[in-house]
Amino acid sequence: MRLRNKPWADDFMRENDHIVVQNPFEWKGKWKELFDDPSKPLHLEIGSGKGQFIAGMSKQHEELNFIGIERVKSVIVGALKKVKNAETKNARLVNEDAEDLRDLFASNEVDHIYLNFSDPWPKNKHEKRRLTFHTFLDQYKDVLVPDGEITLKTDNKGFFEYSLVSFSQYGMILEDVSVDLHADEDPLNVPTEYEEKFSEKGQPIYRCKVRFNS
Ligand code: SAM
Repeated sequence: MRLRNKPWADDFMRENDHIVVQNPFEWKGKWKELFDDPSKPLHLEIGSGKGQFIAGMSKQHEELNFIGIERVKSVIVGALKKVKNAETKNARLVNEDAEDLRDLFASNEVDHIYLNFSDPWPKNKHEKRRLTFHTFLDQYKDVLVPDGEITLKTDNKGFFEYSLVSFSQYGMILEDVSVDLHADEDPLNVPTEYEEKFSEKGQPIYRCKVRFNS
């Protein structure tokens, strides 16, 4: 495992415990209190990777608070560096598996969820692992406020199609869809590391915004 190459990761995260939240399960129901201004809406990214999105978004949107969850330690330290360098005060990172968000967040605690280039798990036998499988939608519905949104971006056409069907079967409302985000030139779009990589290869980026039918 690549972790062997980063024996300093634990120390680095501990030294920066104002960014990487220690004992995150203890913050369930109290996340907003972690931030300077608890009145700001709470936006959550699942699978933050090396953190370009959360670092960029927290800089662009000082009116929001951000949490990024990333389960791989050797990856989240990259996100920590980016958030640190961005010098934003409205972003926190959590080194956990977002297997069940209800362990980490109370009902109605989150205002927006981002699923950025989530692992597509293309084999049918792995459908349950896809972050848009209905069991994950159950979790999102619980932790999101009633009019909370989910934004999904991906380069993977099959995963995008699957997710749209999954959202639809769940009775969710599709608010916005793009099958070539970069051609649409959204000036507020903050690209992720994967997004830049696939876009440079000429691949279209898909994006949709959905919410639950409350
Ligand atoms: N979002 C980043 C981007 O677009 O550049 C990274 C995309 S990468 C394909 C997916 C990331 O999600 C990986 O870093 C992986 O470790 C993380 N991930 C996948 N499932 C997760 C889970 N259940 N909890 C936390 N992180 C997860």
